[in-house]
Amino acid sequence: MIVDCHVHPTSPPDQMLHYADRMSIDKLCLSLGPHFIQQPTPEQVEADNDFNRRLVEVYPDRFLAYANLNPNYLEHSLREIERCLVDGPFIGIKLWVAMRCDHANCDVIAERIAELGALVLQHTFYRTGGNLAGESSPADLAALADRHPQTTFIMAHGGLNWEKGLKTVIEQENILVDTCGFDPEMGYTEMAVRLLGAERVVYGSDGAGRSFASQLAKVYGADITESEKTAILGGNMERILGL
Ligand SMILES: [Zn+2]
Repeated sequence: MIVDCHVHPTSPPDQMLHYADRMSIDKLCLSLGPHFIQQPTPEQVEADNDFNRRLVEVYPDRFLAYANLNPNYLEHSLREIERCLVDGPFIGIKLWVAMRCDHANCDVIAERIAELGALVLQHTFYRTGGNLAGESSPADLAALADRHPQTTFIMAHGGLNWEKGLKTVIEQENILVDTCGFDPEMGYTEMAVRLLGAERVVYGSDGAGRSFASQLAKVYGADITESEKTAILGGNMERILGL
């Protein structure tokens, strides 16, 4: 089974599934919404989550979804977790660039996610020229994950500057890394497996902003074992989500 742990519903779903079928991708995990809003209002957060919930309802065998949250609105975030994860089909939450995750509001959110046994997909960058005001670095995520060992995090993009990003989170065994959001450079997957172990690496594409094929190539083309590739392409997400 191939599970894409990180996609965005920015293309029509039929088109996205058409290309997913060509690459034998079984399941796609939706994140954010049809528009990228850096500082969404509660109403915009709810609209994103309603949008993704509908896709999960229409294509229950293909789409899974993370609830979008803006942690600056803590009470609203906790209500959205109830609405989407407790009373709805969502598998976890996605945190983007509204607030750095090493903030007390994210502690409250991470605790609730641990209670639910759900996932946190956290955008992380070590951005050349400096991060955005609310943008998390791998160090921010390592600090949060240290305080919440029962919460499972996926560090999106490996931190972009991935050599530095991967080294930052070696000790936090509750952090996995995905494979997306940067060019299909050689060596990423090998280094992630060497430093973290294959059980902490999950395939994601960041589609529709990236092609499935170019991101899958990071796994298929990596100098690792077949069983490590199987785990990264879907086995790890199957295990974590109990698919
Ligand atoms: Zn993304």
